[in-house]
Amino acid sequence: MTNMQKELLDPVRVSLEQRLTELRSRLGRVEDALSSPHSKGFADQATEREQDEALAGQEQVFERELSQITAAIARIDDGTYGECANCGDEISPQRLAVQPEAPLCMACAS
Ligand SMILES: [Zn+2]
Repeated sequence: MTNMQKELLDPVRVSLEQRLTELRSRLGRVEDALSSPHSKGFADQATEREQDEALAGQEQVFERELSQITAAIARIDDGTYGECANCGDEISPQRLAVQPEAPLCMACAS
C-alpha cells in the first residue's frame, strides 16, 4: 500500500480509535456494574441476576467489537486494511463505509 492510500485511511483510523475509546469506557461501566455489591433481598437478587446476565451479554458484545476494531487498526498499520482476511479479495468500499472494522468481504461473511 502506498503512502497516498495510507493517508486516505487516516480518517478511518481516527474514527476507529474514537470508537475504541468509547467502547472501553462503556465496557468499564459494565464491569463496574457487574462488580458492584448486591443487595440482600430475595426478590432483588432475582432481578439483579437477570440484570447481571444482560450486562454479561453486553460485555461480550463490547469485547468482540473491541477486538475487531483493534484488529482493523492493526491492518491499517501493516497495509492490509480493506483486504478480506479469508480470501484476500478487496472488501467493497460500501461495506467498509457501513462497517469499517469488517475483516471479511461480503461473500466470506455470508
Ligand atoms: Zn473474502
